[in-house]
Amino acid sequence: MASYFEEHDCEPGAGPRQEEPHRQALLELARSLFNGLEIDVGFLESEDWDHRLPPPAAKQAVESLPSVPVTPQQADKGLKCPVCLLEFEEEEVVRKMPCEHIFHKGCILPWLGKTNSCPLCRHELPTDDEQYEEYKKDKVRRQQQAHRLEYLHGAMYT
Ligand SMILES: [Zn+2]
Ligand SMILES: [Zn+2]
Repeated sequence: MASYFEEHDCEPGAGPRQEEPHRQALLELARSLFNGLEIDVGFLESEDWDHRLPPPAAKQAVESLPSVPVTPQQADKGLKCPVCLLEFEEEEVVRKMPCEHIFHKGCILPWLGKTNSCPLCRHELPTDDEQYEEYKKDKVRRQQQAHRLEYLHGAMYT
């Protein structure tokens, strides 16, 4: 009776040898995942921020927001304050965020006292919260890690 390998017209061990370059990539991938896991474990507490409202903007960042007058063009366009939805009046003095969005002082200050981002585009101001600032840095590190993994994944399948 013919053996399994004769019937299937292949040699035992031929498969794994062909897989060698892939195995190397797989090992590096596994090591990266393991290292990534170590980073995540260190910042486990700050992971919470994914599900929480970011902290208030730093007082200094809020105080340094420039006060600008509404231009005739902005008033003509009927530009509205995104918080209270009232149209701005020409020459009215408003607060400008770094993202160029403008708000009534009385609208944006209470908002930034609750959370640090622009209500319109989520542009973030710095905060006084060390834990949150650490989380933001960690998020950048995790993104870099993800890019490295994507690169390795690409190397495995090309
Ligand atoms: Zn307003
Ligand atoms: Zn904005």
